Amino acid sequence: MTDKNLPEKFLLRMKNMLGDEFESFLKCFDSQPKKGIRLNTLKCSKEKLESLLEPEKSPTSELSYFYEGKVGAMPLHAAGAFYSQEPSASSAVTVLDPKPGDYVLDMCAAPGGKSTQIASLLNGEGLIWSNEVVKSRANILLSNMERMGVRNAVISSAYPNVLSKKLGGFFDKVLVDAPCSGEGMFRKNDEAITEWSEEHVKSCAERQLEIMRSAANLVKKDGILVYSTCTFSMEENEELVKKFLEACPEYLQEEINVPFGRKAFDNKSLRLFPMDEGEGHFVAKFRRTADNFEYPRLTEYKEDKKDLEGQKLFKELFNIKPWGVIKNIGDKFIIMPKDKLPDFKGITILRAGVILSELVGKHTEPHHSVFAAVKPCEVKMNADFKDGDENLHKYLKGEEIEVDENFKGYTLVSVEGVALGFGKASGGRLKNKYPKGLRLIN
Ligand code: SAM
Repeated sequence: MTDKNLPEKFLLRMKNMLGDEFESFLKCFDSQPKKGIRLNTLKCSKEKLESLLEPEKSPTSELSYFYEGKVGAMPLHAAGAFYSQEPSASSAVTVLDPKPGDYVLDMCAAPGGKSTQIASLLNGEGLIWSNEVVKSRANILLSNMERMGVRNAVISSAYPNVLSKKLGGFFDKVLVDAPCSGEGMFRKNDEAITEWSEEHVKSCAERQLEIMRSAANLVKKDGILVYSTCTFSMEENEELVKKFLEACPEYLQEEINVPFGRKAFDNKSLRLFPMDEGEGHFVAKFRRTADNFEYPRLTEYKEDKKDLEGQKLFKELFNIKPWGVIKNIGDKFIIMPKDKLPDFKGITILRAGVILSELVGKHTEPHHSVFAAVKPCEVKMNADFKDGDENLHKYLKGEEIEVDENFKGYTLVSVEGVALGFGKASGGRLKNKYPKGLRLIN
């Protein structure tokens, strides 16, 4: 029997669900789940990450590893070489299988574990639209997408029914990683245990069906909708699938065949119990078979005279062509995602594309966002440091650091060739431009 104070009703439900396997399920509560990281191929190669950290591969995605080390204060983490993620959490995106060029919506996206995984797999081609209804959480999502150097993202904070009305049939693939009763979190999070009740499970299932009905309208014909949770309850998983198929008969459920986890109780979806090195993840996959309606009108962004200053600045800083159209919006210059986008009216958009610069006082200053999204070979000036160099720690604390005497002006700071941020160099010193909100305290 575990020391965890698990609710009696929860234990009874799990016993009924698992039968003979209940004891081995319970035994898992005596240990903590294995920790993990996920490679961000937008900024770092597999070879580099493997040689620097020596993580152990996980079967749940080609980018996921088991890794027990502390990552929070690592410069490579701050640079977005990888994302800290328990490996089984990557399974939903493995099932979604985004390909370069796809338009993908992540409906419940914060803090961004799955959105950043999708962005890696798109490799800059197509679009990742990450939505998070809770504004404070949407800001964390934005910061993670920025750290991972994603160029082709739109980040919004809207209710699913609002997106559903405005963006019908716009996406090739939609992920609903639904808010759930979080039973899969019980091993590492005692708060999830105290919040649990059968009523909570029921109200989560009602909300999940509502979100799925909105999501259904957003997928184009032949497109894919993936539903996932990190909870064990039948109401939020197999029973939800059944209710969704009844409510949206234009969808067919597809069988999931992957080399990890096990078949769920409906024989088509996927489950990852702690006995399978999973944290209660459930994944179901659907294909939309009927025609769309209300497809949104798209806008093609074109350069005009107002945008010339932004283009000039880009040319001064980088030795590549901009990957999207540079637009002057308010006091900023933005590099828009390169594909056409729908009208944003009525949707709260936190970011579309990458900020090139903003007005600070009377001067236009480059923005951290663009330096986080480039490679050292793409910039005019780069101060690169080996992992472990004390200059990196100083930089992350917001201090001035020493650089090559020949450097003059805006300079990329990187760790092992992975872009971290920037500063302004002169006379062998680099004035720190790492954002205050991201700095290490000690
Ligand atoms: N996909 C995220 C990741 O991988 O990092 C985790 C998402 S979490 C399981 C579910 C998210 O749904 C939470 O961020 C929560 O704020 C959001 N949410 C809560 N209520 C919602 C609602 N009514 N509609 C859509 N999303 C909601």
